[in-house]
Amino acid sequence: MVATTEELLELHGQVRDCTACPLHLTRIQAVPGYGPVTARVMAVGEAPGENEDREGKPFVGAAGRLLTTLLESAGLDRRDIYITNIVKCRPPRNRDPEPIEVEACSHYLDEQIALLQPDVILLLGRHALARLLPGAGGISRLHGERLRHNDRVFVPLYHPAAALYNGGLRETLEADMRRVRGYLADAEAARARRAGGASASELRQVAAAPGGAQMDLF
Ligand code: URA
Ligand code: SF4
Repeated sequence: MVATTEELLELHGQVRDCTACPLHLTRIQAVPGYGPVTARVMAVGEAPGENEDREGKPFVGAAGRLLTTLLESAGLDRRDIYITNIVKCRPPRNRDPEPIEVEACSHYLDEQIALLQPDVILLLGRHALARLLPGAGGISRLHGERLRHNDRVFVPLYHPAAALYNGGLRETLEADMRRVRGYLADAEAARARRAGGASASELRQVAAAPGGAQMDLF
């Protein structure tokens, strides 16, 4: 059972109040994450930047606009996706997060995944890849691949910020997003199968119904 909006908002509140690592000293505000608790897709970036720190929402700057476009190209509406970061507070001058910061913050991401139970997790950039699939390999080898781990599907992708000023990388990211569309369809079908006998027989009834237009469900 997916958690409730209240449970997710309670977690967001804990993040906003968090002082567990030094990044709380320099932030304007923490950026817990954004999107519905019912989202089937989660996207995980690196850390909030200047715009995110100001607005309190993830991916609202130029990289965020590119992310929205890329998601749309994969047939996804950004409003259906839960977006967050490895580290919830902005590192000064957008430096890479330090290991102790990633460590201090990581349980929030674990809790977000446990609450939402997403079908697919998009790992945006090498930090997200290293945090959620440690030892799996580098982003240049794994981008666009579908990786199963702990009963969950992960897709490493180049970070949209890296693709902003690099046309070649942007084309790769667009091609990878098109593959994501297929992965989502598979995940959706697997979930329907897991939903079990009752719904399968319901589907069969639909397929057997006059008109039979639903046969392609199988
Ligand atoms: N880059 C990220 O990794 N996360 C954001 O929220 C914005 C830019
Ligand atoms: Fe807390 Fe994470 Fe912000 Fe550090 S980065 S203060 S651990 S919410």
